[in-house]
Amino acid sequence: MADQQAHEPAAERDSHETESSGPVGTETPYDTDSSTDSDDEDYVLLKKLASVTFEDRLKDLYSGTGFTYSDLFAQHKCEWAPDHPENPQRILESLRRCKELGLIERCKPIDATYTGVDTLLTKHSRELVELAEATATMTYKERMQLSEKYDSWFCNEVTYEAALASCGSVINMAKLIVQGSVTNGFAMVRPPGHHGMENEFNGYCTFNNVAVATQVLLDGGLDKILILDWDVHHGQGVQRMFYEDPRVLYISIHRYEHGLFWPNLRESDYDHIGQDKGKGFNVNIPLNQIGMKDADYLSILHQLILPLTYEFCPQLILISSGYDAAVGCPESNNFLFHMFSLAPNL
Ligand SMILES: [Zn+2]
Repeated sequence: MADQQAHEPAAERDSHETESSGPVGTETPYDTDSSTDSDDEDYVLLKKLASVTFEDRLKDLYSGTGFTYSDLFAQHKCEWAPDHPENPQRILESLRRCKELGLIERCKPIDATYTGVDTLLTKHSRELVELAEATATMTYKERMQLSEKYDSWFCNEVTYEAALASCGSVINMAKLIVQGSVTNGFAMVRPPGHHGMENEFNGYCTFNNVAVATQVLLDGGLDKILILDWDVHHGQGVQRMFYEDPRVLYISIHRYEHGLFWPNLRESDYDHIGQDKGKGFNVNIPLNQIGMKDADYLSILHQLILPLTYEFCPQLILISSGYDAAVGCPESNNFLFHMFSLAPNL
């Protein structure tokens, strides 16, 4: 991965330098009679900084929001159940709404990118990756039989290619953010990833997009990544992949209902906090009631997530932004009322 250290915003760099050199904006911050070459350089720098307008600083600080989408993502579907809840309409409707609001045109278009098999192998077994590849040439019946072996997973002839692009696009967006090419970004991808496990397809997910992207960045030198998962389901795949890793803080808000809500796992409860060196770096916020409102969500955000985030001080935040927690989705049951009106301005 290319230059990872270069992402300190210019305004922050400026403020660091200013702090050690005197106040910005004064004509004669030093006694020039006793100045050395070094003082002269500082003075020139201060003059330069003082001439930078607020608008210039903002431009320097904000390098745009990246957006990735591919038609491939809508071609992945369940052939034998056209009305399956995880169908292409999910992403097509999201795209339509974003276009309607004029959001896409405000973003920097980032091409969808395939990931390589070697990259997938950092988080998945070779057996699983080869099985996914084989689905592209299976018959309809073979694909259906394979899907039945897993919990809530399906595939068609496009799934493998879409999954490579889904994972690769998340990795690419994360890299561009770390490099400073964009300030933030949204990879609108399918199939999703947070239930994907090392050797198991699960919960509509083929490869664990966010987990693989996180591993790529860790291998590239980052050592503090926050994964915030606001999908209505617990991302057990992500939790398992970093359960002993203190470099990754995983926070998930999810419907739990004392274990009655899918994926019905004991490990989705609040007392599963990580293990060994990773102890304290896994935070589950399981909600046992439905009908949550904005106030509940804000309370979680302000009382739990923000303090934890400030303390951890991540170099990068990845959001598993499954929108099935939003009002209108049958799976949410008004879990989070108007969550997306509160979401950061992407
Ligand atoms: Zn979900």
